[in-house]
Amino acid sequence: MITILGAGLGGLVLARILHINGVDVRIFESEASASARHQGGMLDMHVETGQMALEAAGLYDEFRRIVLKGGDALRVLDKTGRVYLAEAGNDLRPEVERGQLRAMLIASLPEGIIQWGHRATEVAAAMDGGYIITFADRRSVRVNTLIGADGAWSKVRPLLTDIRPVYTGLSFAEARLTEVSSRFPEQAEIVGKGTMMAVSEHKGILAHREPGDVICSYAAFEAPAEWSAEIMSEAGGLFEDVLKRFGDWDRSLVDLIARSEKPLVARPLFALPVGHRWGRRAGVTLIGDAAHLMSPFAGEGANLAMRDGADLAQAIIADGDDIEAALACYEAAMFPRSESAAQESAAGLNRCFNAQAPRPLVDFFLGMHSDVEAIVT
Ligand SMILES: Cc1cc2nc3c(=O)[nH]c(=O)nc-3n(C[C@H](O)[C@H](O)[C@H](O)COP(=O)(O)OP(=O)(O)OC[C@H]3O[C@@H](n4cnc5c(N)ncnc54)[C@H](O)[C@@H]3O)c2cc1C
Repeated sequence: MITILGAGLGGLVLARILHINGVDVRIFESEASASARHQGGMLDMHVETGQMALEAAGLYDEFRRIVLKGGDALRVLDKTGRVYLAEAGNDLRPEVERGQLRAMLIASLPEGIIQWGHRATEVAAAMDGGYIITFADRRSVRVNTLIGADGAWSKVRPLLTDIRPVYTGLSFAEARLTEVSSRFPEQAEIVGKGTMMAVSEHKGILAHREPGDVICSYAAFEAPAEWSAEIMSEAGGLFEDVLKRFGDWDRSLVDLIARSEKPLVARPLFALPVGHRWGRRAGVTLIGDAAHLMSPFAGEGANLAMRDGADLAQAIIADGDDIEAALACYEAAMFPRSESAAQESAAGLNRCFNAQAPRPLVDFFLGMHSDVEAIVT
């Protein structure tokens, strides 16, 4: 029996591939049900990671049915609303809503594999080998093989390393507009069908079109580590704080935040050190953010979590009863892959937030894409 902690995208892909290949698997998940929390946000699925994992899970065709058509369009602006780059998209990195993707993976597993409402508070080594997971309701379970797929603040990670996520210095405030075609036509136009990135002077307003006539935006800015705790302690503090920071930005961009449903959600960004690794420990490993949390500027975190899940499942299936060989094989490929993505992610963050923005970002996209539709400078 393989035990996974966490039913995020990584844990679900792992469970799905193991299950369809006849391996006994279960997931303990802290949320009370599949619909307990709005998952939100758009994800673009990359060929060699997210899409590869969906193929291995036998869910690629189903995934294509929930792709947001034209959702990979891209616009880059500055704070005045001037457009530097507008690209229609080419479907190489199709966009999907995270909640729909997660729901598809959950529905692909028989009832009972995911044990909802199991929030682990501690994971410790058992005296006789294996590991003991203790849950918030004080029940505990002993497991032989444990996969930490429990995200940024993993309870499994301390079994393998003392390293903890470090604040990147950048925070997001998340905003949402609904019924945008009728209520917010100006914002619908400025965002377009996919992603809009307005960046200037170390700040940004980043927006994605979501299915159901919704725009999800992030105001992104540098803030000290204590910022989110301080601002959340005052009612309405986050909203006022964010609007003050973007006081000299064009109104049509600021309205993506100012006219949002309330409350805004504070998302300080944390990352693990680039290239960190751990030594092999019997019966346990990590996938996804638990293994390699990074800032979202390479758009790789969810994709990597899914690829990790697929690779680990395939290693377990290939190595039969030799679980140690499987875990070692998985880690040997995962460490260099996540290191290079984390480097790219750190570079992506610097590309967006600098004094010359949006120029470095525009130059990057021009170098990457050959099919840019229009550039207005
Ligand atoms: C603002 C933002 C934008 C992003 N945009 C993108 C993007 O465009 N593309 C992309 O690829 N990535 C993106 N990412 C990164 C992506 O969200 C993560 O990398 C991805 O969700 C990691 O998946 P995971 O399965 O490892 O962990 P998670 O999605 O964090 O899932 C972990 C699961 O474990 C459960 N869990 C946690 N603790 C416990 C516990 N103690 N006990 C039991 N269960 C537990 C959680 O409830 C959750 O279900 C973005 C991240 C942010 C913050």
